[in-house]
Amino acid sequence: NQILLNGNMIKRRSCIDIEDRGYQFGDGIYEVVGIYGGKLFLMDEHLQRLKRSARELSIKLPFTMADIKQDLIELTKVNDVIEGLLYLQITRGVAPRTHELPVEKVEPMVVAYTKELGDLTELQDMGSTAILQEDIRWLRCDVKTLNLLPNTMAKQRAVEQGAVEAILNRGEVVTEASSSNVFIIKDGIVYTHPANNFILNGITRQKVIQILQELNILVKEVPYTVTDLLSADEVFITATKLDVVPINSVDGHDIGTGKPGMMTIQILEAMRQLTARLQVQ
Ligand code: PMP
Repeated sequence: NQILLNGNMIKRRSCIDIEDRGYQFGDGIYEVVGIYGGKLFLMDEHLQRLKRSARELSIKLPFTMADIKQDLIELTKVNDVIEGLLYLQITRGVAPRTHELPVEKVEPMVVAYTKELGDLTELQDMGSTAILQEDIRWLRCDVKTLNLLPNTMAKQRAVEQGAVEAILNRGEVVTEASSSNVFIIKDGIVYTHPANNFILNGITRQKVIQILQELNILVKEVPYTVTDLLSADEVFITATKLDVVPINSVDGHDIGTGKPGMMTIQILEAMRQLTARLQVQ
């Protein structure tokens, strides 16, 4: 397996400087891109979001969009990944450790690797469960940074309870989940938290909203409450490569019939048609 390190394809090995700011402060950004049938799905959208994250943190990306795209396609090919994902991370770089940004010029560190993934069809067809956790993250959740401790701790609690996700609530309001966005359906209308500083605007989220509009299903990007979540007819989460996963119960409380709902299945199928098309391109 090869990795991409600062523009070079090399064998995977550990080579992080102890004063890399990503390592010491989580001072960096990342993207995860899904690979379907050997093709990178929605790569331009992911790279646009990366560009935005970099701008928000004043990290100057050391590559052009065209160049990184070529490198990532090459990496996927070299590693012969058919179903999986690609992880791309850029840290601010190596500098003597001070909280403030280094005054001298530092070169950002760019790393990418690929990972094979097993079949997720059963999880998508059967759905899973979720738990609720207070959202204790900072107020810039719209930036995809390496600072993920609140997310990892919330996910750990979910896994300990056999759940696929921890759905996060800031007080009464449901924001998103530890590594996915949350949608609820009530009386035929789909609701999801608006894309502001309280959530990461998922690339899958945006694709699903587009699919809903094409299916003439009304989608409202408005905040909704924990009570709305628990009394919804259907709930599902979206994330790269998970695509759409129905949530059958939250904190042991059944959602609707306690089985994946009709509209959720319709959205999942529409998503499958999109990703299946990639494989034959
Ligand atoms: N929210 C959070 C907090 C995430 O970490 C992720 C990505 N893993 C998502 C939402 C979903 O984003 P995407 O659809 O771009 O994978």
